[in-house]
Amino acid sequence: MYVCSIGKTRVRKQLGLAVNIQHHIPSLYIHIPFCISKCIYCDFNSIVMKSQAVDEYLKAIEKELQSATGKYSFKTVFIGGGTPTVLNERQLSRLLSMIAKHVDVPNLEEYTIEVNPGTLSNEKAIIMKNSHVDRISIGIQSFSDRYLKLLGRIHSANEAKDVFFYLREKEFKNISIDLIYGYPAQTLNEWKRDLQECCELDPEHISAYCLTYEQGTPIVKLTDSGTLNKLSEEEELKMYEFTNDFLCDNDYNHYEISNFAKQGKECRHNTVYWENREYVGVGAGAFSYVNGERYCNIKNVKEYVSSVKSKKELICFSETLPQKKRASEILIMALRMTSGISRKEFIQRSGFDLNELFEKQLDNLTQAGLINFDDERVKLTRKGLSMADSVMMEFV
Ligand code: SF4
Repeated sequence: MYVCSIGKTRVRKQLGLAVNIQHHIPSLYIHIPFCISKCIYCDFNSIVMKSQAVDEYLKAIEKELQSATGKYSFKTVFIGGGTPTVLNERQLSRLLSMIAKHVDVPNLEEYTIEVNPGTLSNEKAIIMKNSHVDRISIGIQSFSDRYLKLLGRIHSANEAKDVFFYLREKEFKNISIDLIYGYPAQTLNEWKRDLQECCELDPEHISAYCLTYEQGTPIVKLTDSGTLNKLSEEEELKMYEFTNDFLCDNDYNHYEISNFAKQGKECRHNTVYWENREYVGVGAGAFSYVNGERYCNIKNVKEYVSSVKSKKELICFSETLPQKKRASEILIMALRMTSGISRKEFIQRSGFDLNELFEKQLDNLTQAGLINFDDERVKLTRKGLSMADSVMMEFV
């Protein structure tokens, strides 16, 4: 039986399904693991900021960056976290200057930084603009103060809107807004209002993720104890389907399970993950995928910094997938994109024909109305998109 789960994996956090052995210019991800406080749903690699650790951390990522940029040039840069804008003006300026020193910024296809509305100052926006950052991803999550408080966010809805307007004034022309839906007690009407408010701002890109309940997070304790009640899968599904219809009606192209963009504004950096192309991750817990090998840096910030300092091994995990496993991941990641993958592309990337590996699954899923496979291209149907995680499991 298929279970509704709406593609909840957030690729931007580099959970690491990846693998394309073709060599392209890689993308660069830089992880800033500090936050003001922890949101109750968060299981990302982030810690509450202590001022003394930040400069040491920046020094460490500069060393790592230096060695990475000695080997590669980059197609896109994405600075994520954590909360990159938790850095003070001097630290942010130092981070962006070190990137400018080691990366050919004018030739990047896209240069993104994540912004938490509770941490952006005018000066920081000017530093970003002057450093040629050309895409901002704002973690707004909700336009309801009640839910922002529940989730442990550090900003109000009005502060988030002010930050958006301010970034527009500074002529940032490519802004993405992150939203979360499906939190305890949220109604479909409340979610409609969030989407409405979001569209009124007219961002170029919207990521709308259904809340996930990750083991060990405070929200799971609250739902396990009955203090908060999760929505049912049916309620989550209704919200997901409404999201797709509403955003498409508002001129957003639904190009990935949870991502929507105005024409030509799809996120190029995250598309690298979805297309299994190569990327290099710098910072604590960052994943890389190069030359067919996937590896991950030490996650603990202190250990990461001290390993860089003492020139010890930074990598705590690495693997080179067997060919068939790699082919399966190529398909799983490609199916996240609403355009899916063509048979030809799949052969080029994996070395296998789709039918050779997955004939039975493709037949069954086609009959169940979950995928569309016309012998040339395979992609999820609308029904399949709503059950994406279950469909993907068939190819594992
Ligand atoms: S701001 Fe983002 S990274 Fe930081 S605790 Fe909240 S969800 Fe996690």
